[in-house]
Amino acid sequence: MLYIFKSRLLKGVVTRQIEPGLRGEVEAAGFQLRALITEKFGRSLHIREVDTGSCGACESEIIAANNPIYDIQRFGINFVASPRHADALLVTGPVSKNMLCALKKTYDAMPEPKFVITAGDCALDGGAFKNSYYVEGAVSKVLPVVLHIPGCPPSPLTIIQTLLAFFESGRPH
Ligand code: SF4
Repeated sequence: MLYIFKSRLLKGVVTRQIEPGLRGEVEAAGFQLRALITEKFGRSLHIREVDTGSCGACESEIIAANNPIYDIQRFGINFVASPRHADALLVTGPVSKNMLCALKKTYDAMPEPKFVITAGDCALDGGAFKNSYYVEGAVSKVLPVVLHIPGCPPSPLTIIQTLLAFFESGRPH
């Protein structure tokens, strides 16, 4: 414990500020997204996320999008713990056999209207885990996916920009 305390004191603050150029891009897309979400939902968009077998990096980027640096909440995106509170289901990773039932149950528990988003190449077609004996395959084989966020993993900026383009196109409903 003493070692950790000393190490923290010696290292100081190691977190970095977001680069100014990137901040500008995030905020430009983010505030447009905020306006579209307010127009469409009259409130924030609530997302329930399920990892059906990812390597963890897609989750890291989603967590980064929610941290105080990117702060995606200010753009009207809230991640919720219960599918009963969710407008959208966000799925990462290929559909592993042991998560298939949980994925379907989560989707079934969501109120209508609802829609499904995938994030990361594995969710699109199995990605790096495509030929694994334990993988069912793409999320779209199981649920009606309407939006895919590309990348391996997708960055917070890609997440924001892809959602923006989706709502700009007038979808999902
Ligand atoms: S898309 Fe890439 S980062 Fe995301 S779960 Fe698959 S291997 Fe990991």
